[in-house]
Amino acid sequence: TSSHSGVDMTVKIRVCVRKRPLSSKEIHRGEKDMASASGRQLAVDEPKVRLDMTKFIERHKFVFDEVFDSTSTNEDVYRKTAYPLVQYLFEGGKATCFAYGQTGSGKTYTMLDEKQGLYVLAARDIFVKLRAPENSHLSVYIGFYEIYQGQLHDLLNNRKKLHAREDGNNSVVVTGLKEYEIVNVEGLMQVFEYGNSARSTGRTNANADSSRSHAIMQLVLKDCSTKATVGKLSFIDLAGSERGADRGETDVKTRMEGAEINKSLLALKECIRALDQDKKHTPFRQSKLTQVLKDSFVGNSRTCMVATISPNNSNSEHTLNTLRYADRVK
Ligand code: ADP
Ligand code: MG
Repeated sequence: TSSHSGVDMTVKIRVCVRKRPLSSKEIHRGEKDMASASGRQLAVDEPKVRLDMTKFIERHKFVFDEVFDSTSTNEDVYRKTAYPLVQYLFEGGKATCFAYGQTGSGKTYTMLDEKQGLYVLAARDIFVKLRAPENSHLSVYIGFYEIYQGQLHDLLNNRKKLHAREDGNNSVVVTGLKEYEIVNVEGLMQVFEYGNSARSTGRTNANADSSRSHAIMQLVLKDCSTKATVGKLSFIDLAGSERGADRGETDVKTRMEGAEINKSLLALKECIRALDQDKKHTPFRQSKLTQVLKDSFVGNSRTCMVATISPNNSNSEHTLNTLRYADRVK
């Protein structure tokens, strides 16, 4: 229906891909754009060398629910990803929007950019809906935490360590998570910025500022008088999907971070696949990430994954890894 932006909301999991433009640095280095989007299809040209040293190109093609070309704006992406989830939130559902991809591919830009991430665009629409008389009994709260090395940290409460507990209602509660009621987009952005400044950043070979943690920002709709949760929309900026072992890291701590990230991203794939196939058993206990996302895998839930890719030739291996992951999720 038009209220869902033409997106079929009977589908529990949608997988989209977003290609960012070449950066000016990449252009300056003479890098080539290896990814071409056309409709729902994405083709990636992988440069290869035969045994006899002749060069050739292997073309890999993928089809997704939605493919966003490098010219697309966050608003374009929002319409087809988080916007239908906002509608779903007001129908009392649990919805999750992920960004998955290599460091530098645009996860944060898409999901949690302080000024124009999908979370801001979603909040704008949530506040419009909250002004409608039929929603006057509802209010919205923000919670913001990260998972670093299998440990939860509250970003709105001095990185306080938190624990996840199952509440018997098929849902998982992050005990003690600080939630703030917000009444407008500006207020949300302020609280968000405060939490964002508490995120852990690590030094890696690929990117001095890369994130080695999963950030989870949730907007929770509650009944004003009972404080009962009516719906929940989570925005997740996952840790970089490139594997620790691929990056020539010799530092033990960095390698352990990489292993933990790999474990959680593999568990995430397993859980989303189980969700799509309506399996009885979902292996959400395999990692902290999937455990806290149990809500998104059982009951009334909708999930949208945005796989972000870098188009330049020197990243084509990581790009293919991301596309294969996204492809297998479906
Ligand atoms: P990640 O979070 O995956 O490590 P970022 O979101 O930080 O990557 O993006 C890396 C860089 O590329 C940033 O400077 C960001 O502003 C830029 N960028 C990412 N996606 C886009 C896009 N779609 N259009 C323009 N610039 C982008
Ligand atoms: Mg980032």
